[in-house]
Amino acid sequence: MAKHFRHLETALIHAGEPEPRINGAVSMPIFQSAMFAYAGETSYDDLRYIRLNNTPNHIALHQKLAALERAEAALVTASGMAAITTTLVTLLSAGDHLLAQDCLYGGTHAFITKDLVTFGISYDFIDGDDPDSWRRKLRPNTKAMYLETMTNPLLQVADLKAAVAFARAHGLIALIDNTFASPINFRPLEWGFDLSLHSCTKYLNGHSDIVAGAVIGRADLIEKIRHKLNHLGGSLDPHSCFLLHRGMKTLAVRVKYQNQSALQIARFLEAHPAVRAVHYPGLDGHPRHSRARELFTGFGGVLSFEVHGGVEAAERFLQRVTLPIVAPSLGGVETLATRPATTSHAGLSPQERQRLGISDSLIRVSVGIEATEDLLEDFARALEG
Ligand code: PLP
Repeated sequence: MAKHFRHLETALIHAGEPEPRINGAVSMPIFQSAMFAYAGETSYDDLRYIRLNNTPNHIALHQKLAALERAEAALVTASGMAAITTTLVTLLSAGDHLLAQDCLYGGTHAFITKDLVTFGISYDFIDGDDPDSWRRKLRPNTKAMYLETMTNPLLQVADLKAAVAFARAHGLIALIDNTFASPINFRPLEWGFDLSLHSCTKYLNGHSDIVAGAVIGRADLIEKIRHKLNHLGGSLDPHSCFLLHRGMKTLAVRVKYQNQSALQIARFLEAHPAVRAVHYPGLDGHPRHSRARELFTGFGGVLSFEVHGGVEAAERFLQRVTLPIVAPSLGGVETLATRPATTSHAGLSPQERQRLGISDSLIRVSVGIEATEDLLEDFARALEG
């Protein structure tokens, strides 16, 4: 009998699971086979082969991911960057123009500014918070608009509703990198985006042990992107598919806990005399708090803050905390802390960082699933005189 469910928590466990279960296996087995016996397939893209993204492990993940964001289709890729780059080179051709938010993940920023231009694709950056300025950047050849749900590391929230309306009005494909929110906190397709992209390396897998990516959305676009991925070769191997599939089952419990923990830590930091500023959309004082409340179910597990005393004080904090691992990346079960100027945003010039408001002393924290009390005590000790 078909399973009936309405909630994401249930979709994480049941959506996309093979029916009937393979030899009764409760956990999706790993199909560690590069190719499968020919079964009369009539097109190249339907031959069953790991690079063609259609083994049983891929198919189960595609269905689970699509169910999570209530989308028509999904595609997993070898990394978040494979999802982003394959999507952009599928949708854009020589002569096309892209509008992109001005504060993107460094890898995406570098791909747009250094690689896409070599394919004859031009771009303009837009301030996600200033819809009135977007029309000035629009060109007759503009094809797509690219944003992130929350920006890294300042956790700004662009005017996502205005972005969808603008894209609709001008016939643009609306793309969003939803890595920071995860499908638990934001489901872009429900708000009108055409495609949602993820670095599954982060929350979706959640265990800091693979790199993976996903594109979720309109079936016609996903089909085109899959064919391009088949050529470019950025497919996820079955063992990583298995790990991602396993990690995703606990996404809801992890992210809901991380939402709560990050909010408590942000409030603690906000009230601490050694802290100069805290960036977290769940705080009442965040400039886009009411927008975040309208769009998101939760405010995520990442926050950033500045201590008084500049880089020296920030380094002292990072040396004194005992629980957070000082490392880049985010979204795992363990708390990580980093200074973006030395890691995720080291590729930007000091002037660019300054323009974006990313100071050298800014500390970004990705809150894990440790006891919040233990983290608070650790942070308090590290901030002491
Ligand atoms: N998008 C965002 C928002 C990210 O933070 C990252 C990585 O940090 C990526 C994309 C790239 O993902 P991956 O490292 O899985 O290629």
